[in-house]
Amino acid sequence: MKVKVGINGYGTIGKRVATAVNQQDDMEIIGVTKTRPTYEAQLAIQMGYPLYVPADKVDDFKAAGLDIAGTVDDLISKADIIVDCTPGKVSGEYKEAYVKAGVKAIWQGGEDHSLTGISFNAAANYKESWGAQFSRVVSCNTTGLLRTLYPIDKNFKIKNGYVSLIRRSADPNDSKAGPINAIEPVVKIPTHHGPDVQSVLPWISIQTMAVKVPTTLMHIHTVVLELEKETTTEEIIKLLKETPRVKLVKAKDGVKSTAQIMDLAREIGRTRGDMFEIVVWEDGIKVVGNTLYYYQAVNQESDVIPENIDCIRSMCKLEEDPAKSIAKTNKAMGI
Ligand code: NAD
Repeated sequence: MKVKVGINGYGTIGKRVATAVNQQDDMEIIGVTKTRPTYEAQLAIQMGYPLYVPADKVDDFKAAGLDIAGTVDDLISKADIIVDCTPGKVSGEYKEAYVKAGVKAIWQGGEDHSLTGISFNAAANYKESWGAQFSRVVSCNTTGLLRTLYPIDKNFKIKNGYVSLIRRSADPNDSKAGPINAIEPVVKIPTHHGPDVQSVLPWISIQTMAVKVPTTLMHIHTVVLELEKETTTEEIIKLLKETPRVKLVKAKDGVKSTAQIMDLAREIGRTRGDMFEIVVWEDGIKVVGNTLYYYQAVNQESDVIPENIDCIRSMCKLEEDPAKSIAKTNKAMGI
């Protein structure tokens, strides 16, 4: 029997998780929620997803001519697990309903670690969410950092990490957020990204700074790592080539910016033009003495999607071996 998954919040992350769940053979979407009868609600119905709405919004959806399957509480009562993709700092509101229904739930990186006490990354700590009622898939930036920091730490032990994050200011479908003609530093240091990495790998010493720039496509990280074990540029390239969900590209092949990475994703036929992998510039990797330098790019809308699938598998005890779950998810999603 397939695990029954409900999506609370069919937005940027929710719709992508829905597609990815239905690509797996051990889980299925039984419904999604929307709070307003927007084009996304219409599309959810066109996609064949039963649509559930807040009890006090039923009339709005009916007036807009949309067929609904029931209320959000109805979906919560039918699901084995809810993937909560409501906006950050909203979804904590639903915790009580999930507790009451005895349903499992996954939150996203917009929520604090303290909401669940467990944060998830498939390679780094799959087993911590094993059988758990609640977990949280860390944010797009933290997922990006963990994808490369975890294997590097495992092999060469990170003594200190210094990361600058150049963050996209809005998602492509967002016309409200900014800046649109400025560069904005996040003056609280460290930014939340370092402590968020430590919610999964508590022993890593890492400092993070961030600036927001007027782009919607991807984030870029500049990473500087002091390593305890000696290594070479070639060894790091080999390691990252072998790491699942990490993709190496070369500026000398014409992949000079996030624009070409997004073009690459479209050209290889990815749904919605998504790049689920963390993209590292191979010709931007350099080891000098005991210090490693590299650049990586994160497609904020999509890198956390395969992690949500593996988190469902761990929480619902579908596959004990993290590597097998990662491989199964990747195969089904064409990664
Ligand atoms: P979004 O705004 O695109 O989608 C949120 C969805 O929740 C919308 O469908 C909206 O209708 C619905 N919603 C709004 N208020 C609600 C409420 N009170 N109750 C129920 N549903 C409500 O947001 P998103 O970008 O998909 O972000 C969702 C979560 O994923 C956040 O925690 C965010 O921090 C995290 N996240 C976002 C990104 C990203 O770049 N977009 C990346 C990684 C993680």
